Amino acid sequence: MIEITLLGTGSPIPDPNRAGPSTLVRAGGQVFLVDCGRGVLQRAAAVGVGAAGLTALLITHLHSDHIGDLGDLLITRWISTFAPDPAPLPIIGPPGIAETVEATLQAFRHDIEYRIAHHADLNAPPAVEVHECTEGAVWDRDGVSIRVAPTDHRPVTPTVGFRIDHGTASVVLAGDTVPCPGLDRLAAGAGALVHTVIRKDIVGNIPQQRLQDICDYHSSVEEAAATAARAGVGTLVMTHYVPAPVAGQEEQWRALAASQFGGRIELGDDLHRVEIDAP
Ligand SMILES: [Zn+2]
Ligand SMILES: [Zn+2]
Repeated sequence: MIEITLLGTGSPIPDPNRAGPSTLVRAGGQVFLVDCGRGVLQRAAAVGVGAAGLTALLITHLHSDHIGDLGDLLITRWISTFAPDPAPLPIIGPPGIAETVEATLQAFRHDIEYRIAHHADLNAPPAVEVHECTEGAVWDRDGVSIRVAPTDHRPVTPTVGFRIDHGTASVVLAGDTVPCPGLDRLAAGAGALVHTVIRKDIVGNIPQQRLQDICDYHSSVEEAAATAARAGVGTLVMTHYVPAPVAGQEEQWRALAASQFGGRIELGDDLHRVEIDAP
């Protein structure tokens, strides 16, 4: 069984009820955080997961809404891991993630110096182990494997999706992307597809060009659902809603997805949890 928790279902627009994009995946005792938007650690705390309890951080792309709390995550893991010589945090993402992590640690260098000077048992800066990749196998540990494939969020490039397999259960995390062959390959036959969705029928009609611009590099609800149908996944989990669904309108979103996809459809607020069983 794989457990998916939507930690943050929001977007770049601050929302009092939605943290930034972030999804927690628990499989075989391992805990993966996929993207780390604003407020991610507060949401993770709500389900009993601390920064020190993460097995690895997976980043789909370097848009600010997906990495907004990277600094908080790195520092909080560092100061809340009490084991001597803690293992470095594996961070897997597209090319550019190493530079981003390094620059983030640099931005927090004063904080890091203060804490090393103050605490006798903190002797080294936060330990990380960054892997950059766009395609292929990136993880194989204790029955859990992870694969990466390129997605299409141009002009944001490179961007990746992740597939986490545990036994015969599997979950694909698409991130922000338009329908594309890389995601189709990755999602083929998966148990679940977690996909960013945009209501193009709403956003496309807002008389503000900068908002209309976001339509051309995201999938609509219908497009995400069509991807799920092509891949033959069992469950579509929608997240990163733009705009945020108004209370009572969830059925409208579900109906748009159901127009393209006959499987199980999940959407919800932050902390919505979905269990994916082995078929
Ligand atoms: Zn993006
Ligand atoms: Zn985004």
